[in-house]
Amino acid sequence: MTATAEWKAASRHPTFSFYLTAPACKQNPAVALAAAELADGITISGPKGPDVAKRLRDAGLEVPFLFDGEGYKPENLLGPEMWVEQQAQVGAARLLLPGVFIPWERDSESTFVDIIKEQGRIAEVLGAVILAAVDVRWVAKKTDLVVDSLLSTGRPVALILADRGDPLSVSGAVIGLQRLASQIVRLFLLRSDHGSIGALAFGANHASIGLTTSTRHYAHSSSGAWRNPGSSARLFVRPCLDWFLAHVVAGWTAAGSSLLCPLPCCCDGSLSRYLDDDFDATWHNMNALAEFASHIIGAEPADRRAEFLKACRDAASQYGLAGVQGPEDPKAQLTSWSFS
Ligand SMILES: [Zn+2]
Repeated sequence: MTATAEWKAASRHPTFSFYLTAPACKQNPAVALAAAELADGITISGPKGPDVAKRLRDAGLEVPFLFDGEGYKPENLLGPEMWVEQQAQVGAARLLLPGVFIPWERDSESTFVDIIKEQGRIAEVLGAVILAAVDVRWVAKKTDLVVDSLLSTGRPVALILADRGDPLSVSGAVIGLQRLASQIVRLFLLRSDHGSIGALAFGANHASIGLTTSTRHYAHSSSGAWRNPGSSARLFVRPCLDWFLAHVVAGWTAAGSSLLCPLPCCCDGSLSRYLDDDFDATWHNMNALAEFASHIIGAEPADRRAEFLKACRDAASQYGLAGVQGPEDPKAQLTSWSFS
């Protein structure tokens, strides 16, 4: 569904990409190929992104690329000019600044305001998009400040929500994101989960969705990320709009709650087959996420919010069904969307 016209700066048509790390693209080009087939583009994370994109291009992959230089990580020091130049050389769909991290400060607003002001100035000079990994509490608790500060730059903004767990499970975060998406003129969500599809429904321009726990949000080194509690594959279960471990899903199926995937990845097969290590769940997860994103993007602009919220309410109704061994409680993010 790649349509380069949709990436034109003036276009209001939302787009989505898969968010892949540079090593993942290098070690498994099939994932990059799949992303090119299913999404509007590929976001590659890490300073080596442009090199990897060049290699993929040279191998014949024609797809719009975005680059997250991860300058918000303490170990990545990228000069803005050189980084923008590197992206331009490989024909990036948008030029992004290297990125900064904005830690939470409960009693002061100056950190956020000052950092964004400075980034806005650099973005203006270089004709680039601001990139900021923001502690999600700014979005959840100081939404007005965030909106005003980002709008005052006059620049497009790419945001990454930072939290040690799911950022959108933080109280107020879903409502805050809805307001940002509807008020910021050009907003990109990078390194996100399916919640960013909700942001598209509320007016954001781009959602870049990760496939692993570490690429669905950012956990700053000081906070530490949650660890995957088991080795079984993680599956995006489309009807439930959430991720579950394969052995958990297999438990539902065994009890009669059949979870068949109708998409081309599984051809009506049961998701429980991903309990077998020989089956790689990545292709399924990409198909399921792309199907959902395409469903929302494909709706009439005026209907997207209602479609997304309906999908969330339908998903929430799949939980806790009497007499069925199935998913028990929707996670906080889904509950927040469902009641908004
Ligand atoms: Zn599938």
